Amino acid sequence: MVTLGPWPNEAQKAEELYGGAWSGPEGWARRRERDGRIVCSAGRPFGTLGELASSWVTTDREVPVFGYICVVSKVHVVEPFELPETESAGFWRDCMAVAKALNDLVRPVKMNYEVHGNTLPHLHMHLFPRQRGDAFVGRPLNLKEVHHRYSEAEVEALRAMVAELALGVTRHRGQER
Ligand SMILES: [Zn+2]
Repeated sequence: MVTLGPWPNEAQKAEELYGGAWSGPEGWARRRERDGRIVCSAGRPFGTLGELASSWVTTDREVPVFGYICVVSKVHVVEPFELPETESAGFWRDCMAVAKALNDLVRPVKMNYEVHGNTLPHLHMHLFPRQRGDAFVGRPLNLKEVHHRYSEAEVEALRAMVAELALGVTRHRGQER
C-alpha cells in the first residue's frame, strides 16, 4: 500500500501552482535553500513510489498523462549543472533507468522529459509518456492539467517497477564484483 502525500492544504497548493513561488524575491531565495522547501526539510518528497541510488521516484494521485512520474535528486541543488560530476552521472543514470522501465511498462509513442524547478527549486526531472490522442497533442504539456487519476493498482504497478529497478541495480553491481 502506497500513500501518496497530499498538499499540506488547498491554500498552499494554489500558491505553489499559480505563480506563488516567484511572487517575492525573499520567499524565492528562501525556497532555493536546502532547508527551505518540501524535499529537503521533509527528508523526502511527497508521493514517493520508491528510491534508487541517487534519487527518489514520485508521482501524484492526479496527473496530466497516464504514466507520469518524477525523478527527484537526493542531492540538493537548484540547477542540474550544480551537481558534482559523480552525482550528476548518478542522477542521470537513475533518470534514464526509470525512463526506460517506464517506456517498457507503458509503451508510449514518445517519452517526454522536462526539468524546470520553477515551483520546487530542488532538481527533479518529469517524465511524460506520450500517447496518440493524449490531452496535449500539438501543444506544450501542462502539469497543472489533470487528465488521469491513478487507481491503487496503477500506483502499485509503478511502485513495483521502481522496486524492480532498485533490485536490478543491486544485482548488476553484485555481478561486477
Ligand atoms: Zn532541496
